[in-house]
Amino acid sequence: MKHNIFTFICITAFALCSIIFWETGYVWLVLTAIALLYFGVTAYGSYQIQANYFLKSINKGKTKAIALTFDDGPDPETTPAILDTLLEKKVKATFFVIGKKAVNHPELLQRIVDEGHTIGNHSYSHHYLIGFFSKQKLKSDLTQCSDAISDITGKKPLFFRPPFGVTNPRYATVLGTLGMHSIGWSLRSLDTRAKNKYQLINKIISTIKTRDIVLLHDHLRITADSLGDIISHCLEMGIKIETLPRLIGKEPYEQH
Ligand SMILES: [Zn+2]
Repeated sequence: MKHNIFTFICITAFALCSIIFWETGYVWLVLTAIALLYFGVTAYGSYQIQANYFLKSINKGKTKAIALTFDDGPDPETTPAILDTLLEKKVKATFFVIGKKAVNHPELLQRIVDEGHTIGNHSYSHHYLIGFFSKQKLKSDLTQCSDAISDITGKKPLFFRPPFGVTNPRYATVLGTLGMHSIGWSLRSLDTRAKNKYQLINKIISTIKTRDIVLLHDHLRITADSLGDIISHCLEMGIKIETLPRLIGKEPYEQH
């Protein structure tokens, strides 16, 4: 892991510089610079899932296609519309569901599976402080989500997407223990910030390339309203839309 190597380098540099600069007036300046660099890189590594800083996430596909992924559902207002569009366009996607929403809408989870889509774990609580959870608390949150999915659909997910794309060393440990894969993305649609449908469609079709894992949200009306056009444009551009398990070559569920 890059984080362990960088921490080792920083501690060594800190110790060496303390000795070398001890008798000069610059010692605090040098040590502060090293400390700032360390915290800066750590913060960047936490928020940039593609950096694979704390753990190795799968951020890209292996085959010449793209995969659509939806986070933060299931939502009774918008997920059905998204499923209707996917059905009409004959496209399969992956839904990283929030456990506490899933237990309130088991029929949506069942529909996602019945229509050939994949379900992944996006934590049970999606708590805004989940990045600060202890190992134990994180493990029980992720397990609670997987159990909820398994109770409803009979499938225990192996794909996990970290809420807010934030990672840390505790995720690496917990995902390792649970045998789960961290799934990132290579194209962030920014549907959470898009002002209108055309901005969202344009953002995706102007930057999309093969092997992309596209991050979308199925609890947003704008995403539900734009999905049909997004898929049509991709197909017109000759871009094949594949399932995430096939795109990355990994099993999505525990095998019995
Ligand atoms: Zn989320």
